[in-house]
Amino acid sequence: MSPKSDLCETCKIMKLEIQYATEHEKKLEIIEKYLAHLNRAKQERDYYNSNIKRAVEDGKCNLNTTESQVLYKTFKGSAHIIYD
Ligand SMILES: [Zn+2]
Repeated sequence: MSPKSDLCETCKIMKLEIQYATEHEKKLEIIEKYLAHLNRAKQERDYYNSNIKRAVEDGKCNLNTTESQVLYKTFKGSAHIIYD
C-alpha cells in the first residue's frame, strides 16, 4: 500500500486496528473490512469522475437535439403541472 495523506478517519482507525490486532482471525476480519471500505471509496470516486465527464459532454452538446438532452428541452413540449 502506497502511503497517502488523504486517508479518511475510517482508514486510519482500521489500519491501526490491523496493526495492533493480536489474534490472527481478528486481524483477517479487520483486513477484510478495510478492503471492502477501500473498494467502496474507489467506487464513489469512479462514480464522481464519470459524472463530471458526463456533465462536460452534456454541456458541449446542449444546443443540439440529442437524446441525452431531452430533459433540457421540455419547454417546447407540453407540461401539465397540477397543484392541489
Ligand atoms: Zn477510508
